[in-house]
Amino acid sequence: MAREKKVEQYDVVIIGGGAAGLTAGIYSGRARLKTLLIEKSLVGGLATYTNEMENYPGFPEGTSGGGLMELFHKQTKKFGVEFKLTDVKSVDLAGEVKVVETFRNKFEAKVVIIASGGRPRITGAINEDKYLFDKGISFCATCDAASNTGKTVMVIGSGDAAIEEGMFLTKFADKVIVSVMHDNGKMDCNEIAKAAALDNPKMEFIWNTVTHEFRGEDELEYVVLKNLKTEELIPVKVDSCFEFIGYIPNTEMFKGQIDMTNRGYILTNEKMETNLAGVYSVGDVREKFLRQVATAVGDGAVAGFSAEKFISEEEQFKSYILRNDIDNLVYIYNGIDEASRELLPKVQQIGLDREGYVCTPVDVYKSKGIAEKLGVDTFPCLVVVKDGKIVDKIDNDLCESSICQALDACECSCSSCTCNC
Ligand SMILES: Cc1cc2nc3c(=O)[nH]c(=O)nc-3n(C[C@H](O)[C@H](O)[C@H](O)COP(=O)(O)OP(=O)(O)OC[C@H]3O[C@@H](n4cnc5c(N)ncnc54)[C@H](O)[C@@H]3O)c2cc1C
Repeated sequence: MAREKKVEQYDVVIIGGGAAGLTAGIYSGRARLKTLLIEKSLVGGLATYTNEMENYPGFPEGTSGGGLMELFHKQTKKFGVEFKLTDVKSVDLAGEVKVVETFRNKFEAKVVIIASGGRPRITGAINEDKYLFDKGISFCATCDAASNTGKTVMVIGSGDAAIEEGMFLTKFADKVIVSVMHDNGKMDCNEIAKAAALDNPKMEFIWNTVTHEFRGEDELEYVVLKNLKTEELIPVKVDSCFEFIGYIPNTEMFKGQIDMTNRGYILTNEKMETNLAGVYSVGDVREKFLRQVATAVGDGAVAGFSAEKFISEEEQFKSYILRNDIDNLVYIYNGIDEASRELLPKVQQIGLDREGYVCTPVDVYKSKGIAEKLGVDTFPCLVVVKDGKIVDKIDNDLCESSICQALDACECSCSSCTCNC
């Protein structure tokens, strides 16, 4: 019989402990939200594997990705974020209470932040799966460069990651052969990296090629390239092969629940909100222009901040807006609009004039969250709540008399009312 899963409640659950998830944790933990971060392999994520990071601000001499991520981890823990090292298996994100399940546990949360990043794309060449990771095909120069000291390695790809990691490999290997699918001299990386690579005597380029097959007894011995123009097969003897041909977002488990691009990247707005209320997405896993640590950090900060706003608005909504102890006149206005600002004291007076009413002003200039929850998009608007339920929305020609008429059906008790009841 299957063991019943232990259920635990959190304000925020973050899926993925890379730069984006850790930063979201710093913001959410610091806002005193009860926060859990679930990471399936290595806290720090992809950046941990980057040997030299020269473009993260604050480190003019550069830093190692691993060292930087250790600092992120330490800072996240400082703000009380709890960590669980396990794989998230499934999620149910549509309801008010979000459910995140691991092998042993079920976590319920008010907010979920998806920070699951991506994984390396593979070439799909013949026999590739026989040599993945410890049999000769690697995706991490930092991890496997030293064991290739004095050897010949192949790099597949010509983007920034391929060329920069290839350059790093030349510090150890005798020869780094780069398979590039483009014409002679054309690469996908930045111009500085390209010039340095073309200048490096240990680097050799085989242009117009894609990977056709991997060969070897137990371990990888040959990468067979195929010339895209002549279709010629070129067996190249190597000790290892490093693939840097892009990433696939880790979004399989969110399919059908969260809106994505057709390549599987999660769609968000600038607040990192997905199509589901209370679900945010950050870092490499979301559709964005630049996938770097600096941008992952920005995303994480926005989502952690948004989570705090979302939760406090939810609480405010339940306690002060849809209250059932007293009838509520919720006046939704824009604080920078003079006319709607002038109406505010009048609406408050109408509330005071009626026994059993309160008036709750909501300024959409400060936050639109409550207006959105009430389904209001025209301002000013008065929402009448009785017994915890919305009974009326008045947004057409909103003035004292239209409010009094709607509230009292012309049995008006308001001194300033102009109706003829
Ligand atoms: C070779 C290489 C070099 C790079 N060099 C640089 C550089 O010099 N400068 C720079 O700024 N950026 C660099 N980057 C990019 C940078 O590493 C990423 O942009 C950054 O790591 C993105 O952070 P993230 O948190 O979005 O995702 P990730 O770092 O990918 O973290 C996502 C985490 O989610 C976890 N996860 C996934 N699914 C689950 C699940 N189901 N349950 C639990 N956990 C899960 C993963 O294990 C992972 O740890 C480089 C990338 C590569 C590949």
